[in-house]
Amino acid sequence: MKELQQLVRPNIWSLAPYSSARDEYSGHEAHVFLDANENPYNAPYNRYPDPLQRQLKQMLAKVKHVPDDMIFLGNGSDEAIDLTYRIFCQPARDNVVAIEPTYGMYRVCADINNVEYRPVLLGADYQLQASDLLAACDEHTKIVWLCSPNNPTGNSLRRDQLLLVADRFPGIVVVDEAYIDFAQQPSLRQELATHPNLVILQTMSKAWGSAAIRLGMAFAHRDIIALYNKVKYPYNVNLLTQQQAMQMLADPFEVDKYVRLLLAERQRLMPAILQLPVCQQVYPSDANFFLARMTDAPTIYRYLVDRGIIVRNRSQVQQCHNCLRITVGTRSENNELLAALRQY
Ligand SMILES: *Cc1c(COP(=O)(O)O)cnc(C)c1O
Repeated sequence: MKELQQLVRPNIWSLAPYSSARDEYSGHEAHVFLDANENPYNAPYNRYPDPLQRQLKQMLAKVKHVPDDMIFLGNGSDEAIDLTYRIFCQPARDNVVAIEPTYGMYRVCADINNVEYRPVLLGADYQLQASDLLAACDEHTKIVWLCSPNNPTGNSLRRDQLLLVADRFPGIVVVDEAYIDFAQQPSLRQELATHPNLVILQTMSKAWGSAAIRLGMAFAHRDIIALYNKVKYPYNVNLLTQQQAMQMLADPFEVDKYVRLLLAERQRLMPAILQLPVCQQVYPSDANFFLARMTDAPTIYRYLVDRGIIVRNRSQVQQCHNCLRITVGTRSENNELLAALRQY
């Protein structure tokens, strides 16, 4: 890995971050707060929330086995994705390399930040070839985007190839693990100690059943986390989100129940879809969704919409011709989908 200073945008490296009212006193007991122009009435919503979400991070540190100063929290993982560009990439000069197909936000954020986006097609079985990806990098490549389990293909990328990229690429390697709680593969979190260029993204939006609260996390070396904290909005995670996340984290076994139920449903739904005359192939999944190649995906998609059933039409995506991406729902939702497709 290059020196961190060589990877960071010079203006961000030298940035003096906004100092909020409550940052400026510390180490003192206080009970009269007349510093932040808050209204003294309407507690607890009158007070600004903790900008560093310390209590929530302490709970996460225990659940994820990562020290709290190696955790960044954002308004969904989408905030962490955008901040990664703003920290590392000089617009109109730097580039990023990503697997293709994958999650669409990496490209959108590249376009917003005017950073060149270099997609590299996945190989057979939607697998990552580390050497292909590394061949697309040059001296202006700041970030490599990886997603495992990958969206929309559903498969986990091979761990040896992920780690090969992290070992060989001298810049930042982001591994988006939004679906890791559903996967047979373990998280790469344990690799952070030996890979200072690794940024791992996770979210409360999928297995934790909390997409509405918008809470995403990044795990990385503490020097990288410090950069995210410097660039983010001071109060990027609101009080209601922090409270609800802590309530979920208080009972992490609830998530295991969701995961067990959804994986059992996926095991039932995938072969049932494959048996349908309209389905040609179902791709292996390590997530709470799977990709199905159909005889005519756009027509089947519209047919389902007319019956009030929405799946994701991925036919226009490279290497996903005629594919629908199907999220695993409740047993009765999955039965409705199957019944509709049997009548097609
Ligand atoms: C759903 C998803 C996310 C979640 O984004 P949030 O902003 O945390 O809701 C992140 N990455 C991938 C690949 C996803 O599919």
